[in-house]
Amino acid sequence: ARRLVDRYLAAHPDGGWLDPTATADLLDCYRLPLTTTVWAPDEHSAVLAARGLRALGHRNSAVLKAYWPDQVHKSAAGAVRTGLGTDREVRDAYREFTAAHGSRMAGAVVQPMAAPGVELLAGVVQDEVFGPLVVLGLGGTATELLDDRAARLAPLTQADLPAMVAELRTATLLSGRPGNPPVDLPALHRVLAGLSRMATDLPQLAEADLNPVIARPDGVLCVDARIRLE
Ligand code: ADP
Ligand code: MG
Repeated sequence: ARRLVDRYLAAHPDGGWLDPTATADLLDCYRLPLTTTVWAPDEHSAVLAARGLRALGHRNSAVLKAYWPDQVHKSAAGAVRTGLGTDREVRDAYREFTAAHGSRMAGAVVQPMAAPGVELLAGVVQDEVFGPLVVLGLGGTATELLDDRAARLAPLTQADLPAMVAELRTATLLSGRPGNPPVDLPALHRVLAGLSRMATDLPQLAEADLNPVIARPDGVLCVDARIRLE
């Protein structure tokens, strides 16, 4: 992870948001479960990537996301298309992106469509005084509507992991009830622990934002991650 960050900062001395490939590589260093994310620099690569995901057994349709540097809110900018089931749908979506976003678009990423679950956010923010904080909250489209978050200074202790989950009003959605199994809490704890390690290892980590992390009884999976270095 340190090598990756040093290399990135050598090429981008002012830091900034990592591109999709570097983001995936850095998350992988901490076993943070990002869904399969294939970089596609052009339309043909996007079609092939979606086909490859189908061949690998991802029976659900594909998701295509346009990428350009410093993008903020992809869905609001019309840069996310879900539920693409065929080559043609992928190609048409890519063409629509090119028409809408023009030359600022550097390419796109292709992902398999994740199964639904509770959409959480998890991340790292820097506190001016205390340093890195690990954050967990309700994510997805509810992020702004219901400001439900827990935060702890890194490094997290073992006791912080369940305590952060329990602190959320959303905790009732996670812990299950009769007929409705709980989400995979150990996997969620590992995400928090991984973020904590990333924050303590890397002083150059300005911000990490995993949103959503989709929590389900059979595991947790992040489908969108942004990381900024300074
Ligand atoms: P942004 O947060 O920049 O708008 P996201 O990549 O988070 O873009 O996509 C917006 C929403 O689309 C997510 O909150 C999620 O609900 C859905 N989504 C994105 N990628 C996937 C995926 N691979 N599988 C299922 N749903 C997805
Ligand atoms: Mg998102």
